[in-house]
Amino acid sequence: MTLSPIEALKAGSRHLRGTLEAELASPDPSFSKDSQTLVKFHGFYQQKERGAADKPPVLMLRGRIPGGRLSAAQYLAWDDLSDRYGDATLRLTSRQSLELHGVLKGDLKATLQGLDAALQTTKGACGDVVRTVTQAPNPWLRPDLAQLDAVVDRLALHFQAVSNAYAEIWLDGERVNPEQEQEKLFGATYLPRKFKFSVTVAGENLVDLYTNDLGLAATFDATGLLEGFFVTAGGGMGMTHGDPTTFPRVADVLGWIPAVALIPVAEAAVSIFREEGNREDRKRARLKYVIARKGRAWFQAAVEARAGVVFEARPLPTWRTSPVLGWLDRTDGTLALGLSISGGRIAGALKAALREVAATFQPGVQLSPDQDLILLGLRREDRAAVEALFARHGWPLTTPDPLASRAMACVALPLCGMAFTEGERALPGFLDQLRSALERQGLRDRSLVFRVTGCANGCARPYTAELALVGQTSSSYALYVGGDPEGTRLAFPVLHKLAPADFPAALDRLFAAWAQADPTASFGNFAAGLGAETLKRLLEASPERP
Ligand code: SF4
Repeated sequence: MTLSPIEALKAGSRHLRGTLEAELASPDPSFSKDSQTLVKFHGFYQQKERGAADKPPVLMLRGRIPGGRLSAAQYLAWDDLSDRYGDATLRLTSRQSLELHGVLKGDLKATLQGLDAALQTTKGACGDVVRTVTQAPNPWLRPDLAQLDAVVDRLALHFQAVSNAYAEIWLDGERVNPEQEQEKLFGATYLPRKFKFSVTVAGENLVDLYTNDLGLAATFDATGLLEGFFVTAGGGMGMTHGDPTTFPRVADVLGWIPAVALIPVAEAAVSIFREEGNREDRKRARLKYVIARKGRAWFQAAVEARAGVVFEARPLPTWRTSPVLGWLDRTDGTLALGLSISGGRIAGALKAALREVAATFQPGVQLSPDQDLILLGLRREDRAAVEALFARHGWPLTTPDPLASRAMACVALPLCGMAFTEGERALPGFLDQLRSALERQGLRDRSLVFRVTGCANGCARPYTAELALVGQTSSSYALYVGGDPEGTRLAFPVLHKLAPADFPAALDRLFAAWAQADPTASFGNFAAGLGAETLKRLLEASPERP
C-alpha cells in the first residue's frame, strides 16, 4: 500500500502547522508546494490567475459559516475586507459560504484577523475535515426550520479540528504544544478527504441533501418539537471524465433515528470514513466510494454497532423545494427578501447596494445552498425604501425568474486552477440560450434546474440538476440531463465534448421532444423516462443551428 504523499504531509505537520509561520515571515509572495496543501485546512487556496503570469499568486479565502447565517455586521466585515485586501468582489458558494478572492500573502494575516474580529473564521472551510455544515434556509422564520439552527451549530462545533494552529499562526493566539493536542475525532492524519454534513426538515430539500456525505432530515412530534432525523449517507459529486472508477453518487437513505442519537450516529459515520476511506488515491477517497465498495447494508450495520442505535424504517415524506427568493412574509410580521445572485458573484452595483442595505436596515443575512442571499427581518414599512435603494444603485428588484433562481455555476475560469471551461461568467449567456430554446418550442412558461461547472469536480452540483454542462476540455462541455427538481436523482451524460456553439441546437432537440411527449412533466422526469440511449440517438443527428 502506497499512501498518498498528502498523508505523510499531514502526519508530519504538527497538527497543521508545518512551516507556515516561517513562510509567512518570508518576503516570497508564494507558499511552498507543501504549504499550499496545508493552508487548505486553514480555509484558503493559493491561486494563479490564468493568463496573468506576471502577477503574483493570490489566495482565495472561504468562510466556515454554519447554515450560512450572518449578522449585518458580519456581512459588512466580509464586504469591507474584500475591498481592503481582496479583488473587491465576494462569492457565494454552493455550501452557504462567502469567499474572498485576490488576497496577497502579505495581507493574509490582516484579513484573517479582520474576520476574527467579526467572529468569522475560515478554519476548516477546506481540507480533509468536516466542512461547513449546510442547512435549509429559513426566510419565513418557520418554527420547524428554526430548530435546525441549534442542530447545525452543534454539529459545526463538535466536528471542528482541535488543532490550535490557526489561532497561533494567523491570529497571534496563545501557543499550545502540538504534542499535547489530541485530534480525537480526526486523528493525526485527519480524514482521507473532505466530509460534508447537511441538515434540513424532512420533505423540504433546500440543501441538495442527497449530495452530502451525511444528510439529516428532521422530523417533529405532535407539539412541533424536534423528534429525530432521517439519515442519508454516501452522496458526493466529484468525478474524473473518462475514469469509470470515479463517479457522482446520490446518498442512500439509512432510516430514521431519534434526536438523541444525532452525535453518536454522526461520530460513527465520520470514524468509519476515517478508518475505511482510501488514503492511497484521493480521487477515490470520499465516503461514497466506501459505501459503493462495501455496500449500504454493511455501512448501516457498522454505524448501528458503533452508535448503539438501530435505524428505524419509516416512509420518507415527498420532497419539495420551496422558493426562497423575492419578498416573503415571516412569522414575526417582518419580511425577508431573497436575492438571486448570478453565479454567486457580488460585485459593482449589487455589492454597493447590499452594503448600504446592510448598514442602513441591519437585516440578518442567510446564504442559500443555491448561491443566493436572503435578507431577514426587514420591517414592512421599510420595503419601499429598500426597493428604492436597489433601484438607485442600478440593480432594480424584479420578480424572481424561475430559471435563474435555481441555476448555479461554479467560479471556474480564470480563478480556479482545475477549470477547463467558463462557469459563472458564461452562466447569463447559457440562461439566455435556454430561454430562447424554451420559447422556440412553445415552452415559455416552463423552467428547469440548470447548472454549469468548469470541470468534473462538480462544485455547483451539476449531477443532480435536470440539465447541466460540465467542463470537459478547454473548448467543450459534457451535457448531463435527468436529475429531478427535488434533487433526489442522479443526472446522466448524453453528449460529450459539446462545443458551446452547439448547445442551442442540442437544446432544440431535447425541448422539442419534451414538448411532444408531456410538457407538464418536469424536464428531468421526461429525460429520465426516455433514458440515456434514446436521448443520445436523438442528439446524434446534428440539427440546423438556430
Ligand atoms: Fe473549479 Fe471544477 Fe470546482 Fe468549478 S467544479 S470550482 S472548475 S474545481
